Amino acid sequence: MAPKRRWAGRPCGKLKVVTSAKIEMHVHLEGSVRPATLLEIARRNGESLPADTVGGLEELYRFTDFRHFIDVWIMTTNCLRTADDFRQVVVDYAQQARSHGAVYLEAIFSPAERVEAHGIGWDEIYTGYCEGAVEAQERFGLTVRFTPDLYRGCPVELAEKCASVSVRYRDRGVVGLGIGGYELQGPLEPYRRAVRIAQDGGLAFVPHAGEAAGVESVREALGLGAVRLRHGIRAADDSALVAELADRAVVLDVCPTSNLRTGVVERLSAHPLPRLREAGVLCSVGTDDPAMFGTDLNREYELAERLGLPAGDAYAAGLAGALCEEEVLKRLADIADRGAGQYRSGPG
Ligand SMILES: [Zn+2]
Repeated sequence: MAPKRRWAGRPCGKLKVVTSAKIEMHVHLEGSVRPATLLEIARRNGESLPADTVGGLEELYRFTDFRHFIDVWIMTTNCLRTADDFRQVVVDYAQQARSHGAVYLEAIFSPAERVEAHGIGWDEIYTGYCEGAVEAQERFGLTVRFTPDLYRGCPVELAEKCASVSVRYRDRGVVGLGIGGYELQGPLEPYRRAVRIAQDGGLAFVPHAGEAAGVESVREALGLGAVRLRHGIRAADDSALVAELADRAVVLDVCPTSNLRTGVVERLSAHPLPRLREAGVLCSVGTDDPAMFGTDLNREYELAERLGLPAGDAYAAGLAGALCEEEVLKRLADIADRGAGQYRSGPG
């Protein structure tokens, strides 16, 4: 399917959208696996976990620092091995998100880690996730598209292979390529060729930046052609950069609870979202790793609302930044239309 760089139908960022429907652009599927699902998958695959009850796993999920978060991430992802596991993860999260009003997800998964650490086949992973998206559409009417993530520190050859495979799955729901991992670990430069492979293949570049690392990481991502940023909130430290993001309508996929849990923002009242909004930057709302951060889409929308971002504006930003095909975009715009009765002109 043809990717898009910018929603050309309507300047959504400047229109008032009133809808209870939600778009989520920043959720890691591995970070959405709830303890009960993890237990089920682990048993099926004969994997042992540090706890063998839901309560025990919930205790482990209450991470205390970034290192602990990585441990939980590794524990979870190590259990995911078969196409059926990946399918189940998509369907399980789609059902949760739909119950919170989601109509469109642009979900992230990290295939290179699975291939590198466990020798799981690329097609096993991609097929499972893509089949999950088909099932989510059929069962819940929720459209799921994917932006697989590389990770900082990923071997360059593996990253380039990941980009090539992602391009191969363009017709099955992959719309972009991202980069996640710990931002302070290193620059994006080694992955320039991987990013180019994705872009030449019709995928957009949607990396993490401006979360743990500062404005330079945002500039670097934009320099590599990023069309949207996961987090990006540290851009608020530089007014010229904020103006550029607003001018270029680069959407930031903001996740308030994640920012608090990882400590990149000290307290909710210190969150830069109001400043970014004030400057005209479009911001969508996501959960990042909802099972691990103990949150859900409703809660994130509520927190964003407390920071001055109404749900309709978050939806409009999602619509402005979504990478799916025109047909889906029109449907998402119609949902907003139905919710509002009509679009009303007004400040975004
Ligand atoms: Zn993320």
